[in-house]
Amino acid sequence: MTKDEERSDRVYKAWETRRLYEFEINSKILRKEKLHIQVPIKTLISEAKSIWKKVFFFRMTNFPDIRLGPGVKHGSRMTSYYHWYNHEIEFAPGERDRITLAHELVHAYGREYHDFEFIFQEFKIFSEAYNVSLSELSNEAETYKLSYQPCIF
Ligand SMILES: [Zn+2]
Repeated sequence: MTKDEERSDRVYKAWETRRLYEFEINSKILRKEKLHIQVPIKTLISEAKSIWKKVFFFRMTNFPDIRLGPGVKHGSRMTSYYHWYNHEIEFAPGERDRITLAHELVHAYGREYHDFEFIFQEFKIFSEAYNVSLSELSNEAETYKLSYQPCIF
């Protein structure tokens, strides 16, 4: 990649990230299903285990560590994150919810960027683990210009 290509790649990824965050913060469907409410860490871990096995079909031997912590600074606020090297998810205060859980689990699943494959996996969690309607989600995603594409088999 040239310097210019690298720069435009970075700008594009930042743009994708912003739209996905806006969607996660404002989605009416995710709110209607109450996925934004704060739940105990115990609940998040036990649901994460079930998603790891039943949605991702992964073994429990590579399940990430999940813990509470201060989070990492993103702009002016502290946010949750997935740490690649340590394979661990840290939930920041105020983000102990299932939307954040789905997001960080997709990073732990192996998706680094917030691209359409990332969104596909995240929506898969919302629909398979929390019974959110995929068609409603994809309609709403369109209004946020998310590059979500239903998988065509
Ligand atoms: Zn992310």
